[in-house]
Amino acid sequence: MIELKDVHKTYTRKGISNEALKEINLRVEKGDIFGVIGYSGAGKSTLIRLVNYLEKPTKGKVFVDGHDLGEYSVKELRAAKKNIGMIFQHFNLLESKKVFDNVAIPLVLTKKSKDEIRKRVMELLDFVGLADKAGSYPSELSGGQKQRVGIARALASNPSILLCDEATSALDPQTTRSILQLLKKINAEYNITIMIITHEMSVIQEICNKVAVMEQGRIIEQGSVLEVFGHP
Ligand code: ADP
Ligand code: ADP
Repeated sequence: MIELKDVHKTYTRKGISNEALKEINLRVEKGDIFGVIGYSGAGKSTLIRLVNYLEKPTKGKVFVDGHDLGEYSVKELRAAKKNIGMIFQHFNLLESKKVFDNVAIPLVLTKKSKDEIRKRVMELLDFVGLADKAGSYPSELSGGQKQRVGIARALASNPSILLCDEATSALDPQTTRSILQLLKKINAEYNITIMIITHEMSVIQEICNKVAVMEQGRIIEQGSVLEVFGHP
């Protein structure tokens, strides 16, 4: 479903090269909740940005659903992007727009009618438990509620993959747990493959079935959480 084969990524700026990823081989199967853990600077964001088409590998190949991303045209990439939802540490909501309109963002560029959009947005808000907040602004919500809006927005285009970039790092432990439970439900009910990058071991232990450990641009261990850490 997601596969990286011998991927290297070197950033070059003002003649200075920075090897952010070295020899990455990774395989995420459909239905996995795959965790990538490592300290800051290990290369986790770069890795997830390669899967999300925001960066290109310097060497190697990235496959999503068996397609080599390097072979896609601009038009094909745009279509493929709809298949990937993403949530962020700081939620990335538009503060000037109401909750409803934030969730509708990925839908307004489609050919859906106003009624269809309204129905879909309310369905999503209902799913994340925020139907009563449709008319609120993000500033009126708690951190956990903001992330629920982020999740609803990420699911709007019916993706088969959800990428989570330190999605619970700004939340307290109890809120973190409730967001992780919601991710688990999304994985189980919609069969959405989830990839999570985090520096928190508790996140991996709570919901991931597989894990890759990154250090200085390399994956130093990879396997089931049981294989890698000796306990679930
Ligand atoms: P992590 O997400 O694990 O903190 P990153 O992928 O953000 O790691 O960073 C890995 C390395 O790549 C770091 O040394 C970082 O400074 C560097 N890096 C990340 N993005 C860029 C960029 N756009 N330009 C240059 N270097 C970058
Ligand atoms: P820009 O191209 O202006 O940097 P993007 O198109 O990447 O911005 O993102 C626009 C908005 O959509 C951002 O607020 C971001 O949070 C959100 N976003 C970006 N990528 C995704 C994604 N894959 N799924 C859901 N939301 C996304």
